[in-house]
Amino acid sequence: MNAQEPTPPSPPAPDGSDQASSPTPSGLVPTARQQVQAAVHECPNCRRDFGAGVACQFCQQVAGLPSGITLSSPSKRLGGYLMEALLLLATLGIGYLIWSLIAFAKGQTPGKQVLGMKVLRLRTAQPAGWGLMFVREVIAKWLIGFLSILTLGIANFWLLWDSKNQELWDKVVATIVVDDPNRRVR
Ligand SMILES: [Zn+2]
Repeated sequence: MNAQEPTPPSPPAPDGSDQASSPTPSGLVPTARQQVQAAVHECPNCRRDFGAGVACQFCQQVAGLPSGITLSSPSKRLGGYLMEALLLLATLGIGYLIWSLIAFAKGQTPGKQVLGMKVLRLRTAQPAGWGLMFVREVIAKWLIGFLSILTLGIANFWLLWDSKNQELWDKVVATIVVDDPNRRVR
């Protein structure tokens, strides 16, 4: 058989649909479906199955945020408490207080600013504003810190077993904490 012989035109489809616009429909359909699945389930950061949570079950990428913006790990959060204490001492308290009042506007504390962390609203994934940060840091944190005496302080480590790495004060004001060292979340 001559390979150069032109292929005879295909007979019209039995259902009358026009196949000319999609010469390989059987090849295109799965691809389109894969793209939809990718948009719904694939993590933009690690390319694995995102899972059902607010953050990727594998790499902690937060849904709806630029690739690489992940929940801060519990160990980094706990290290952050140490950083706050060091900054408090280094600035003789008053400097820390003034710095805090400025950092709150960006959803941060002095320690979070140094460590590239940011407090976001859980529902919108937008940085917490000054008012919410004030409630979180000054009211919720101290109130829960005081009440946690009843649990011998264990309640302060809530993030260790929380699926969104939330502390109880995060629960109160509906916030999460992410790593954003390059200040991409605004
Ligand atoms: Zn991921």
